Amino acid sequence: MILIKNADVYAPEHIGIRDVLTEGSKIFKIAESIELPEELGAEVIDETGLILTPGFIDNHVHVLGGGGEGGFAMRTPEVTLSDLTPYGITTVVGLLGTDGIAREMTSLIAKTKSLREQGISAYCHTGSYQVPVHTLTGDIIKDIMMIDEIIGVGEIAVSDHRSSQPSFSDFKKIAADARVGGMLSGKAGIVDVHMGNGKRRMELIRRTVKETEIPVTQFLPTHVSRNRKLFEEALEFAHMGGTIDFTGNENNDYDKEYKSKIVPAKAIKRMLDEGISSDLFTISSDGQGSLPRFDKEGKLIGMGMGKSSCLIKEIRDCVFKANIPLETAIKGITSNPAKILCLKNKGRIAEGLDADITIMNSDLQIDTVIALGKVMVRHGEMVVKGFFE
Ligand code: ZN
Repeated sequence: MILIKNADVYAPEHIGIRDVLTEGSKIFKIAESIELPEELGAEVIDETGLILTPGFIDNHVHVLGGGGEGGFAMRTPEVTLSDLTPYGITTVVGLLGTDGIAREMTSLIAKTKSLREQGISAYCHTGSYQVPVHTLTGDIIKDIMMIDEIIGVGEIAVSDHRSSQPSFSDFKKIAADARVGGMLSGKAGIVDVHMGNGKRRMELIRRTVKETEIPVTQFLPTHVSRNRKLFEEALEFAHMGGTIDFTGNENNDYDKEYKSKIVPAKAIKRMLDEGISSDLFTISSDGQGSLPRFDKEGKLIGMGMGKSSCLIKEIRDCVFKANIPLETAIKGITSNPAKILCLKNKGRIAEGLDADITIMNSDLQIDTVIALGKVMVRHGEMVVKGFFE
């Protein structure tokens, strides 16, 4: 048992100063004051002056590392616990990207299991950029239904020179299979769609929603603020009730006017100003993914790597630069991803749900992180390290 005293709780809605008691992997009780007899032996941590939120969910992480677009030397490394918990993250969704050959499903599932064994919550999607989808069992429905870790498909690349150039019929079949697999197993069956810079933008998603019975909630388009025209289409999709995912980056400079992209905090502000529900956005990191930069002719001119540490950085920008209330901004990495991904015990501070908790100071610097009722980070230091860290 851990008894957290006097924390300012964002559930994500702001509920004020509370005591929070965990038992095992769950949140047992939330009240204005909880007193326990000493002989119960609960660990008591006083968090007076600190902010308590649900543990963060990073819904798009290349946990195995990515293939590098510049050749084998550019392959990016696997994620470790030290890339995640010190930044408040207690749940990750892993996926494959451009390289669906040298990075493949058995390794992705093994990596997902490895993260679970190290104490955090982890899930993955079946497939990669490529179509036909490279599944584990040969079938999208079977993968989602029968493999515990798999909750959706993706990231399927569209409108990108690195995609398989899927046709409308390819694309709607993937969405249909994901939907059925999700329904039959009580999972999201989400289609994570990598949006490239191509001119067709969201055409395939739009057509599927318009011409079939598949609802907007089946899709989570990502990288949606990578260019302005794409962002406008993403806003239309959100106006229809679709959830859109913004890709954070440590190097995003809120005060800079980029020609090529809109930083998440500005994009989210615009979305909220347009009256779109604050339930309809998520922020993810593209962690461990290679971030190649291409010139106009498609020639590789540079390489970076995504980091999950950007989630809290983007939340700080939302709160301190874009003046979005913390209880709204934090939804993008807690309750909103939990909802669209059907992670029923995640994303909220409530009795009976998983004890995934992030505690920060008023500058939104991470102090303490609890995953499934276990202290992973205390006063900014990792208490539980990965096996080889
Ligand atoms: Zn992507």
